[in-house]
Amino acid sequence: MKILVTGGAGFIGSNFVRRLLEGAYEELAGASVAVLDKFTYAGRIENLEPVLDNPLLSIIHGDICDAPTVRQAISGSDLVVHFAAESHVDRSIASASAFVDTNVRGTYLLLAAALEYKVGRFIHVSTDEVYGSINHGAFTESSPLRPNSPYAASKTSSDLFALAFHRTHGLPVCVTRCSNNYGPYQFPEKAIPRFITAILSGSDIPLYGDGLHRRDWLHVDDHCRGLALVSTRGRDGHVYNIGGGKELANIDLARRVLKLLGADTSRIDWIADRKAHDRRYCVDISKISDDLGYAPHVSFDEGLEDTVRWYSEHPQWWQSLTLS
Ligand code: NAD
Repeated sequence: MKILVTGGAGFIGSNFVRRLLEGAYEELAGASVAVLDKFTYAGRIENLEPVLDNPLLSIIHGDICDAPTVRQAISGSDLVVHFAAESHVDRSIASASAFVDTNVRGTYLLLAAALEYKVGRFIHVSTDEVYGSINHGAFTESSPLRPNSPYAASKTSSDLFALAFHRTHGLPVCVTRCSNNYGPYQFPEKAIPRFITAILSGSDIPLYGDGLHRRDWLHVDDHCRGLALVSTRGRDGHVYNIGGGKELANIDLARRVLKLLGADTSRIDWIADRKAHDRRYCVDISKISDDLGYAPHVSFDEGLEDTVRWYSEHPQWWQSLTLS
């Protein structure tokens, strides 16, 4: 079996590749993996370091917006797991151009090539942000899509393109919509590594608005296990929410990080709220649980402690990174 992983040098994609090559996903064991990645600021070869010597891994340094590169990379693939994206909301507020290029056009080019080369399955990694914000309850896969940020709008567009390629052309597509991921190797512009690295480097945790925005936290290992289940047992044309089952207000998240690092709340820097900041995300995961037997395994307490430890022990991974 040959698997093409786009964005496999980023946070979640590299976790999927590392775990797959370590044999964590029984049904994908022995598959060869080609990573197609542009190596933007978020894509780093260090993220694949533990598996770089594995003969089943090959790396293509290329852009999903370049049609010949995409066609060449996809030919002969049995499965495509599509992670590559511009992924940070704040950057999309500053300028959405790269989000339209990569997230919308790049996804379209991949879908078109997958159709041309008769790929056996295409997994489009989407986000719960396509649903917008919800004050009470949880979004199901049939909830209306009401994205608010330019990032979420670009992901919604690609998500709908993927489903349209299934309906129109019969491309065997599955779409996954996950909640906020956390774990090692996450670029420190995202909340949890940003909080941790701020304290470790002697500055304060920047907290948006009143700090009461609520997120569901999903350990990256659980997310990737969910993706492996959808890759092997998902139904064509179906959408699967993937969540971690740990909902927390940002202020409580900050407090937990501070406690783990032996600091107090005087180390919180309250900053102006993000524009159109979604108040709460929450996904109902009963479909993937009932149909594919998914359940999150990593408890948030344990996962957060491990993540704090990883950043503490790997300053060389993050100290040289700039957030602009
Ligand atoms: P990331 O920003 O860490 O990694 C993105 C990867 O895509 C990088 O390796 C980057 O180099 C690559 N890339 C970007 N543009 C490219 C292009 N034009 N061609 C080829 N490669 C390109 O992102 P992540 O956090 O690992 O997220 C992976 C996917 O999961 C994304 O599609 C994102 O929208 C989705 N997602 C992430 C989260 C989260 O909490 N991180 C939540 C929901 C959904």
